Amino acid sequence: MEAKQTPLIDLLERVPRDAVLVVEHDQFSSSFHPVGRLCHEAAAALRARASTHADDCWSWGPAHYECAVREIRELQAEVERLRADVAEWKARADDLAAALHNCIKLAYNCHRDELPSAIITTASKAVAKYDMLVDFSAALDD
Ligand SMILES: [Zn+2]
Repeated sequence: MEAKQTPLIDLLERVPRDAVLVVEHDQFSSSFHPVGRLCHEAAAALRARASTHADDCWSWGPAHYECAVREIRELQAEVERLRADVAEWKARADDLAAALHNCIKLAYNCHRDELPSAIITTASKAVAKYDMLVDFSAALDD
């Protein structure tokens, strides 16, 4: 069974406010640390942060659950907007590809007799490649 962890703020506030830590470096020197006062200042700073909000407060913990839910809804809305954009751009790309395809076919059919054989080969390959891409795109949509 997992022991329930005491929240950090509670632990900090349990430290006696007048607690001090004296570190003896050697027999002539020591340093003094007011850990009690520092723990209570840290707890106050954490509590202040828990009751205010920021752009990224959804990542601060359970006190910002509602903020996290709001962030998720905003991200979902963004995904929907991007999906709509992708659909629109795909439709435009399909229109452009179809127009290009028609241009190539027209040029190919009109000038077949005048064109050098190398260009005819290239153009017919381009037409075949386009048809293949259209089939591939249709398969992706299914
Ligand atoms: Zn918040």
